[in-house]
Amino acid sequence: MTRTIRSEWRNFIGGAWKDAAAGRRIPIENPATGEAIAQVARAERAEVDAAVAAARACFASRVLQDMRPAARGQLLFEIAAQLKAMADDIALVECLDNGKTLAGGRNEALAAARYFTYYGGATDKLEGRMIPLGAGYVDYTVPAPYGVSAQVVPWNFPLQIAARSVACALATANTVVLKPPELSPLSCLMLGEACERAGVPKGAVNILVGYGHDCGAALVGHDDVDHIVFTGSVRTGQSILRAAAERVLPCVMELGGKSAGIVFPDADLDQAAASTAIGIFTHAGQVCSAQSRLVVHRSVHDQVVDRLVARAKRLKIGPGIEGSDLTPLISAAQRDKIEGFCLGAEQAGAKAATGGRRVADRAGHFMQPTVYVGVAPDMTIAREEVFGPVLAVLPFDSAEEAIAIANGTDYGLCAGVYTRDLERAHWAADRLVAGQVFVNEWFAGGVETPFGGTRRSGYGREKGQEALFNYVQTKNVAIRLDRQAGGRPGG
Ligand code: NAD
Repeated sequence: MTRTIRSEWRNFIGGAWKDAAAGRRIPIENPATGEAIAQVARAERAEVDAAVAAARACFASRVLQDMRPAARGQLLFEIAAQLKAMADDIALVECLDNGKTLAGGRNEALAAARYFTYYGGATDKLEGRMIPLGAGYVDYTVPAPYGVSAQVVPWNFPLQIAARSVACALATANTVVLKPPELSPLSCLMLGEACERAGVPKGAVNILVGYGHDCGAALVGHDDVDHIVFTGSVRTGQSILRAAAERVLPCVMELGGKSAGIVFPDADLDQAAASTAIGIFTHAGQVCSAQSRLVVHRSVHDQVVDRLVARAKRLKIGPGIEGSDLTPLISAAQRDKIEGFCLGAEQAGAKAATGGRRVADRAGHFMQPTVYVGVAPDMTIAREEVFGPVLAVLPFDSAEEAIAIANGTDYGLCAGVYTRDLERAHWAADRLVAGQVFVNEWFAGGVETPFGGTRRSGYGREKGQEALFNYVQTKNVAIRLDRQAGGRPGG
């Protein structure tokens, strides 16, 4: 049975669904087949202006700020409930416009809902401080929202990533203009439907689907934006930071990674291989926190590689809708880029223990699950983010060397350690330059655990309680009660 989705989609501005002023559209394709499945009204500068104005008007109305925080929390709980009720529809959309399995798409919906319940529960726990200034003064701090938050999202987990930022923004009484990725925007538009059904005030959440170079650039460069949350590539992040510098805007930058898992000789090798396979082959490796490097002790190198190759060969490659293990890449361009990395690795002397090429006999954009051995730390395949199902394996002899290899790229998003020795795990975690360290399970953690990078992987944290502090700035209020009582308010 062929399953289809709605073919026409519009932008969500000021609480209404709008066509584009210029009448242009963005075609959306199914990456598993290459077929066009829908089109979306293409947002450009006119839509950016309208959405930012709607977000500004909502913020200026103080509707979110003046609401009792617990009531704002209820609003977020209601968005979560709507997302859960829409989970099957969201799953199909994620399957068709992103390439995920139905289970993976459903997980997008449920994870998004979880962000809204998590941060909904935080609205009435964001407290200020009372600062003692002596007799005659009362001083307190307030976690104040920034205002209009511009949020730009990549295509790999669009709904989850949008949800983690939108939920934090609403929890802290900011308003939002969200720009979903042009390649897989539909589930983000469904977040707009969830907000509408939940009764979110008009203009509090606006969603614009446009290309990065015009809609995205116009949004982050808009004079009336107060705050930017960007999740995507380092290059785009750098261009957004340049635009933000003009207006001295605070930014959260969630960028790429080249994360390494270190396997010590005492590790449970089956577990290490299973976890590594999940770390690199999940969503065909299109994961910022993918375990794209395996740094393995020379004494167990072959045993771990053999296990990984066996796992890679067992993966069923195909469309997500068929429940496949290895699903497509988002576009032909992305597949070509990944295959180019593989050819480059082989020219540099790495050897494919398995894979290394596109899947030629299928429609859609599939790449073989790939494991490279004989990789040296200075090779491109060991240093640059591939964003595909390609693992680079690097041997080590001493623990210090393992740390040096793991830390030896420009990135610092995640790192991992496989060992039975907790003392060694602590030792390594202490030395790994990364925002998050996994021990014996790649992707351990969840909505509750702070996530973000160091170095070129960015800064600021999403997820967990830490994320909330990226969405508020401390305002200090110093009150002089009695002129005669003495003391001076802090300046
Ligand atoms: P990308 O940078 O090409 O695009 C991301 C978003 O930015 C898209 O919505 C795009 O339209 C927009 N954009 C492009 N140019 C823009 C501009 N000049 N101004 C404003 N917006 C612009 O990234 P991608 O290829 O969609 O996603 C893959 C990258 O995202 C990888 O590097 C991956 O590691 C990273 N990522 C990071 C995280 C994280 O949490 N750290 C999560 C997921 C993905």
